Amino acid sequence: MAKLIEGKLVAKKILDNLSDEILFLEKKPCLAVIIAGNDPASKIYVNSKKKKAEELGIKSIVIELPENCTQQEILEKIYTLNNDDSVNAILVQLPLPAHIDTKEVLEKINPIKDVDGLHSYNLGRIASGNKPYSYPCTPMGIIRLLEYYDIAVDGQNAVVIGRSNLVGRPLSYMLLNANATVTTCHSKTKNLAKITGQADILISAAGQKGLVKAGMVKKGAVVIDVGINRQQDGKLCGDVDFWEVEPDVSYITPVPGGVGPMTICSLMQNTFDLYKIQNRI
Ligand code: NAD
Repeated sequence: MAKLIEGKLVAKKILDNLSDEILFLEKKPCLAVIIAGNDPASKIYVNSKKKKAEELGIKSIVIELPENCTQQEILEKIYTLNNDDSVNAILVQLPLPAHIDTKEVLEKINPIKDVDGLHSYNLGRIASGNKPYSYPCTPMGIIRLLEYYDIAVDGQNAVVIGRSNLVGRPLSYMLLNANATVTTCHSKTKNLAKITGQADILISAAGQKGLVKAGMVKKGAVVIDVGINRQQDGKLCGDVDFWEVEPDVSYITPVPGGVGPMTICSLMQNTFDLYKIQNRI
């Protein structure tokens, strides 16, 4: 039987420590989130980020823009936040409305305030094996989980399913930087099962329910499920067929309660780290 990787518990431990550190700061860190449009899931995510920040003593600003906002309006908000010394961290909640050029928006965030590490400066630093101001929150959360459970990465075969800038691509580089032998799979990959079957560490970030089944996973592998999908009954599930895969592997994350809480945890930690960098602490 596999050991469960309990992201919820690990995140709580990290955030308890963070809350203690923030308690002693005279001036508190500040996180600004821009949300544009009416995506219900995005609204839920932004509310939970605001709530968590406030619980920890992080000041939180949420800037809401309508679905029909213009590119210029978003860029102006970013410009204002970039130039506001009281704001340490800027997050643009994705996805943005379809008519908005997301790449341009992300590129306009000052890299030193880019709390989700999606600016090409920060992604480029990671790809070149250097330290960015911030690592993207979800990949960072996954690395922290591997560290917490003392799971060796050095020399292991790691397979990442997904190559988005948000998860798969930076995660692949971060695993490579940690000396794993990394294969990144995506929607055009042929013989996915053959590749995943070689993985000592398999991470799925495809957003496809039931993508990873028992026959695709090596015995004793570590399986991290990033996917968030809805089942017919409305409940959340990941990309991995948990009950099929679990008996064969050594570690596995549940969905929910695995990677999700670690993403929010990294967002809070990154906000604090940017505050420290900006205040030379
Ligand atoms: P995305 O749609 O931008 O990227 C998905 C990637 O998966 C693409 O690179 C695509 O090529 C690949 N892919 C899709 N179907 C595939 C298949 N059948 N075989 C191989 N590769 C396939 O999505 P994203 O933003 O990277 O998010 C991926 C999933 O992770 C989503 O379910 C998202 O909701 C979830 N997510 C979870 C968290 C969290 O905190 N738990 C954070 C971010 C994203």
